[in-house]
Amino acid sequence: MEHSRQRIKIAVQKTGRLTDHSIDLLERCGLKITKSKDQLICYGENMPIDLLLVRDDDIPGLVNDDVCDLGIVGLNVVEEKRLQLEQRGSNARFKQIFELDFGHCRLSIAAPSDTEYQGPDSLKNTNIATSYIGLLRDYLNKNGIQAEPVFFSGAVEIAPKLGRADFICDLVSSGATLAANGLTEVAVLLESEAIVIQTLVPLSAEKQALVDKIIQRLDGVLKVRDSKYIMLHAPRAALAEIRSLLPGSEAPTVMPLEGSDDKVAIHAVCRENVFWETLENLKAAGASSLLVLPVEKMLA
Ligand code: ATP
Ligand code: ZN
Repeated sequence: MEHSRQRIKIAVQKTGRLTDHSIDLLERCGLKITKSKDQLICYGENMPIDLLLVRDDDIPGLVNDDVCDLGIVGLNVVEEKRLQLEQRGSNARFKQIFELDFGHCRLSIAAPSDTEYQGPDSLKNTNIATSYIGLLRDYLNKNGIQAEPVFFSGAVEIAPKLGRADFICDLVSSGATLAANGLTEVAVLLESEAIVIQTLVPLSAEKQALVDKIIQRLDGVLKVRDSKYIMLHAPRAALAEIRSLLPGSEAPTVMPLEGSDDKVAIHAVCRENVFWETLENLKAAGASSLLVLPVEKMLA
């Protein structure tokens, strides 16, 4: 194996909501790894890339300290780390380089459903339970509100019931957990998703080229996620109508059909999902031999 300094190290969540998506995306970029989730490190077999499997909260710190070159982690965790560093008087030594469009959630303030909430002023002189002290303090400061964050490392949503807090500040996606605990969302502090961060320490030219390649491949993987390749036969006369029915397609390829003057074959990449209704409408417009295929990779 090459010298480890020449290999790219990516910090990934070991077990949790981000794990499967993170590893799946890297595999779709062509990375083959020896999968042993109990280990701290997974070695890339076909590229000089290794994964460090850690708790998500540790990821920004590992990139900040240049232990890892890249990290895949929620924006919420990254921003919390950035603010903690700032509040301690130092600047973050990592930068966001790509948004991954999964792990969507928001950091919100919620209150017991019978609380009267009239905007941020209602938070004045209250106790707010959270594990996001940095982000909460930042929000309170920006709104000029004096309130007391109470640190809870887990199960924040039970704090009001325990009489430990008036409000909570926690991650929400569907809102089902809040509802189950008799809480209502009153303010959104941050919209989050999984992102890729990179150390600010410059990489060697080869390593940076490989990072650029991975990011370009990730972009290709995300772009084709909902894309379909559609093939069909159509009467030449129906071409305009059929083109207008193809969802999210730019320039379809139109080819003559051997032995037929009035029919053509149309191939197109549709950037949106193709539903049964679309196929039925295409058929009603005169299309036949309809075929819809998934798109695996795309390089613009
Ligand atoms: P770890 O053991 O790695 O510290 P964790 O319990 O802190 O794990 P998870 O619950 O796996 O973390 O969440 C990881 C990330 O998933 C969050 O930081 C956030 O970016 C994202 N996420 C998406 N939806 C939600 C949600 N409904 N609740 C919590 N996190 C969510
Ligand atoms: Zn965590």
